Amino acid sequence: MQKIQMKTPLVEMDGDEMTRIIWQQIKDIVLNPFIDLKTEYFDLGLENRDRTDDQVTIDAAVRTRELGVAVKCATITPNAQRVEEYQLKKMWKSPNGTIRAILDGTVFRAPIQVDCIQPYVINWKKPITIARHAYGDVYRNSEMRVDGSCRAELVLTDRDGHEKRQLIFDFDSPGVLMGMHNLDHSIESFARACMTFALNQKQDLWFATKDTISKTYDHHFKDIFADIYEAEYRKDFEAAGISYFYTLIDDAVARVMRSEGGFVWACKNYDGDVMSDMLASASGSLAMMTSVLMAPDGSTEYEAAHGTVTRHYYRYLKGEKTSTNPMATLFAWSGALRRRGEIDQLPELAAFASRIEQAALDTINSGAVTGDLKDLVELPEVRVLDTEEFLKAIADRLS
Ligand code: NAP
Ligand code: MG
Repeated sequence: MQKIQMKTPLVEMDGDEMTRIIWQQIKDIVLNPFIDLKTEYFDLGLENRDRTDDQVTIDAAVRTRELGVAVKCATITPNAQRVEEYQLKKMWKSPNGTIRAILDGTVFRAPIQVDCIQPYVINWKKPITIARHAYGDVYRNSEMRVDGSCRAELVLTDRDGHEKRQLIFDFDSPGVLMGMHNLDHSIESFARACMTFALNQKQDLWFATKDTISKTYDHHFKDIFADIYEAEYRKDFEAAGISYFYTLIDDAVARVMRSEGGFVWACKNYDGDVMSDMLASASGSLAMMTSVLMAPDGSTEYEAAHGTVTRHYYRYLKGEKTSTNPMATLFAWSGALRRRGEIDQLPELAAFASRIEQAALDTINSGAVTGDLKDLVELPEVRVLDTEEFLKAIADRLS
């Protein structure tokens, strides 16, 4: 059989722990037999990030802007315990944060829906896509522990040295303090990314913030969205029969639960982080959620929404076969390959990406599943496979 050819390589970002194992298995079992895989490999595993002083993460992100499409494995974001475990030089920043800051993109997350799994929220008939702003706020914050009695102020110094001050709080007992920011151009590209995506999907767009409490910060997000919608998108939305809807974040959460789904929900960075986990588990499993970072220049990075599945990895290290679900990582690969195929005008490559996804969905619908799905699928007969067997079952359908 002739293998499918590629023109431009994908930026391949390898990662950590269980997902690093799955990464290799996906390539060996599902991709390499069918496709002449072309990638530029960047090892974002924690050891190599430490060795390169995290330069590898920056290089990978910069290369993504040049080549246009990347696929990324889940990576460890080190905390104090990881610094000790891996003997790190320092507590490196989240690679996803670094990549998002360089690409200045928006993250779109949507559950992978299969016929045999009913979402926990029974009225959700169609998938909800969460569009998460990928820049700033608490992910680019500066924070301090306050030891005791002191005054905290916001101080803004312009280039001529003029200062503007605003009281935050007069402390007379210990506490904590945080400063954060965002940028108009980032919020604007977030708004455009969401509106363009909603138009492409022909789905309504919802946006929500806490503008009643945050009258300057959050309110500014609301204003930018409204201005861009009026100036650039209203006509196209109306022609497409879709709407832009703004509401308070509390109201949005309540409405989302009562909705039928089938819309794009634009969320500020933190809201998107939290709500996508809620959406993923309500849709079945964290492992059934895809994540795509789209930059304003069109470059795109595909990944799974879940982490490195540490608990399974420790079992794997003891020699156990784990039944870790590779769906989201597999869909990251298929998403990246499809996009590459579309850009490079390789219809065979794009079609192969869709065949991978269909084969994976058919495998689950046939009752062959990983452990996390065993109690979720509504089928007369269910077989739990380990990760390798599950991937082989998908590959069998492909050949
Ligand atoms: P996690 O890796 O997402 O796993 C949390 C739990 O969710 C797992 O223990 C497992 O539950 C279940 N799960 C997640 N993915 C699964 C899959 N593919 N198949 C089956 N079950 C799955 O989150 P974490 O344990 O909080 O974080 C581990 C590491 O991942 C951390 O170092 C964190 O920094 C990193 N992380 C990276 C990313 C990223 O790169 N995008 C995102 C989040 C976290 P059971 O144990 O009950 O089976
Ligand atoms: Mg999260």
